[in-house]
Amino acid sequence: MKDTAATPRRLESYVAGAWRTGHGEGQPVLNAATGAVHALIGTEGLDMAEALDFGRRSGGPALRAMTIHDRALMLKAIGLKLLEIKEEFYLESFATGATRKDGWIDIEGGIGTMLTFASMARREFPNAHVLTEGPVEMLSRDGSFVGQHILSPMQGVAVHINAFNFPVWGMLEKIAPSLIAGMPVLVKPASQTAYLTELVVRRMLDTGLLPAGALQIVTGPARDLLEHVSEQDVVTFTGSAATGRKLRAGRAVVEHSVRFTMEADSLNAAILGADAGPGSEEFDLFVRDVAHEMTAKAGQKCTAVRRILVPAAHEEALIGALSARLAKTVIGLPDDAGTRMGALVSLSDREGVRAKIAELAKEAEVVFGTPNEVSVASGDAEAGAFQSPVLLRAQDPLNARAPHEVEAFGPVATVMAYGDADEAVALARMGRGSLVSSVYSNDAGLVGKLVTGVAPFHGRVHIGNRGSAKSSTGHGSPLAPLVHGGPGRAGGGEEMGGMRGVKHFMQRSALQGTPEMLSAVTGQWVPGAPAQVDVHPFRKSLAELKIGDQVVTAAREITEADVEHFAHFTGDTFYAHMDSAAARANPFFDDRVAHGYLIASFAAGLFVWPDPGPVLANYGVDNLRFLTPVYFGDSLKVRLTCKQINPRAGGDYGEVRWDCCVTKQDDTVVAQYDVLTMVAKVWPPAGD
Ligand code: NDP
Repeated sequence: MKDTAATPRRLESYVAGAWRTGHGEGQPVLNAATGAVHALIGTEGLDMAEALDFGRRSGGPALRAMTIHDRALMLKAIGLKLLEIKEEFYLESFATGATRKDGWIDIEGGIGTMLTFASMARREFPNAHVLTEGPVEMLSRDGSFVGQHILSPMQGVAVHINAFNFPVWGMLEKIAPSLIAGMPVLVKPASQTAYLTELVVRRMLDTGLLPAGALQIVTGPARDLLEHVSEQDVVTFTGSAATGRKLRAGRAVVEHSVRFTMEADSLNAAILGADAGPGSEEFDLFVRDVAHEMTAKAGQKCTAVRRILVPAAHEEALIGALSARLAKTVIGLPDDAGTRMGALVSLSDREGVRAKIAELAKEAEVVFGTPNEVSVASGDAEAGAFQSPVLLRAQDPLNARAPHEVEAFGPVATVMAYGDADEAVALARMGRGSLVSSVYSNDAGLVGKLVTGVAPFHGRVHIGNRGSAKSSTGHGSPLAPLVHGGPGRAGGGEEMGGMRGVKHFMQRSALQGTPEMLSAVTGQWVPGAPAQVDVHPFRKSLAELKIGDQVVTAAREITEADVEHFAHFTGDTFYAHMDSAAARANPFFDDRVAHGYLIASFAAGLFVWPDPGPVLANYGVDNLRFLTPVYFGDSLKVRLTCKQINPRAGGDYGEVRWDCCVTKQDDTVVAQYDVLTMVAKVWPPAGD
């Protein structure tokens, strides 16, 4: 393997608006697979307080001046650019010991995660500066005092301290939600693989799309960085529990109640169900997945399987099948096409892994692999941090300590036999909080029992069986729309989880006041706030439409003939609409009632403006509720009010949400919902 850096590159930090090296030559960072010096790293003399201040003063205001959609589109453009130049990252990634497949998880997995965030944010969030959360709460009988939660970007810097194992994904999965939320970021990669993170940050800044101060990187020791965090900053940490605990208890973090998210050690389990014996599809799937989870990234994955729980009856068969599979692992240089498993990140980490195996071996026997020897198909077994996969078997798992507590961060796992499902749950829980565990079974009753037993101790539970064998993303992959993190030993943090992850970088405030004031703050019309009735709002383009534009329709009476016609026309002849005696026997009705969908249809007939105009399409309704029965002779009218306007950045239309309130002659509310439409930005369209 040729090292990509012929002369070691002196890594730089990008802080306070410029690329800077620390004083001195820097410390050597070695290529994991060859032992050659790959880069030089150091941060001595860098002013960390100034870096944070620059982010707060420059990056924050610039990002907050953009809308959520602007920020999401910016990340999309950067992500697409990174994909174009990804080969440069793969080349650099080999130095971390990662094979091309390992690099794919990190590089394209990371960019994909950022792109997913960018697209979800535009789908799920309005194109706004402030978000609302949950319904408007009535706090007074007369509706003059109401409440709602709002979310606004924190005004500090999001400091992301990452582990060595995912230099790209680890950064991008965290900065995507922060930047979408409107917080500038300062990335602090682990020194061991910081050269790859630094390269990606360089290319992101090269795009010129990020405002000054939005993205900074400290490449090398963090020094006094966390001494300068303050109440509006957020810190996230991924790494060892020991470091995490120390940083979480740091003076400035504690003194300013800095939001601190931690993701640390995790003794993830894979549980084989009693039904999934040898010869079953689930048994084969289990063997395949566990072998993959042990050897992908040489086992240096926070989600890797560390504990293998199997019914006692299948233990021998499982050890045999798994050992046979592990024996096929070709170990060698990461850029060698025949290599299946590359190197650990460093020789000292290999020493650490071997020491942990020795600790495990006090309560478990080695049943596969050679902990202190390795044979490689390519490369130098001594100069590179190669490690044989090692499978252990715990003799008395319920009374053992080390297999549930000692995380050997390499291709190492321990088999534990269990008696019944309760015992399997008890063993999984002995990890005292993990990121993920998997259950492999095709017995729905058993799966239910195991999953409900282990879920409170896990951030994610993966179910493997024949039904999803081909499509499943597997045990080890955290996914952007789903939560990643776990309780207890796993750190107690929660990352990603779709748009939940963005809210982590925003402050939730309960807002109380009159409907008018709430409307003014949130940019969303609240019932009771002033409304304007002039031109029909369906005749207005987004350029003319305003929050609070309203139409109040004429009344329309509902007759028996209407209900009969609707019933036979649609086929909905449910007895409550057709049979007076049956309807009266129903506890909710006094007689035959109109169909709910008839009411919604008549409402549309009352409020639409029928001619061609700026309203392009109706794409649904939200929160539709039928609140009061409608009887023959009742008279309905509609109040439709423009509630929220969401112009699509880069498109020639936007989404408009309308508050639709259907009442009857005595003003009781019959139906309430949001109507969702697409409306042209200008009308008639330019050029017509
Ligand atoms: P560390 O806990 O040593 O380091 C994690 C990060 O914290 C690195 O970026 C490190 O920077 C930084 N850091 C260390 N000290 C400070 C400080 N005083 N102030 C600010 N930042 C600091 O973990 P490693 O990455 O070395 O991994 C070690 C072990 O952690 C693994 O062997 C494994 O057991 C566990 N781990 C768990 C993961 C998980 O997600 N569950 C993921 C990865 C690792 P620097 O490198 O410059 O010291």
